[in-house]
Amino acid sequence: MTSEHTGGCLCGSVRLRTSGRLREVVACHCSQCRKQTGLYYAATNVAVDTLFIEGEESITWYRASTFARRGFCKTCGSALFWAADGADEISIMAGLFDQPSDLRLAYHIYCADKGDYYEITDGLPQYRQGRPGLLTAGPSE
Ligand SMILES: [Zn+2]
Ligand SMILES: [Zn+2]
Repeated sequence: MTSEHTGGCLCGSVRLRTSGRLREVVACHCSQCRKQTGLYYAATNVAVDTLFIEGEESITWYRASTFARRGFCKTCGSALFWAADGADEISIMAGLFDQPSDLRLAYHIYCADKGDYYEITDGLPQYRQGRPGLLTAGPSE
């Protein structure tokens, strides 16, 4: 999908716009994503150079591992981005996008680390860890 997509955080301090091709949504159930969101991280991603952000000064970047950062709104706490250092793509929380988003959830990763208070029952593929070729935070970081 290459049409323009817009979105933003809960309080509106951070707005985003992209005309880039959005990846199918991946649900990450790793412990980092669980702690940050209370459940799991459902994210698309897009080429960094197609993403335009308003309110960048409202983003706090948390150094989550030796190779990646997690961005959130410092006013409302909305989880926004996962960004590997030097990568030309950035993960964006699917829930930020204005509806209808045209996005579709495709599969689940790091299911071995998911919280014990819910089950995954949507019938989509589940990977115990990452999926080959997909850059992720990793199971225990
Ligand atoms: Zn906000
Ligand atoms: Zn994760």
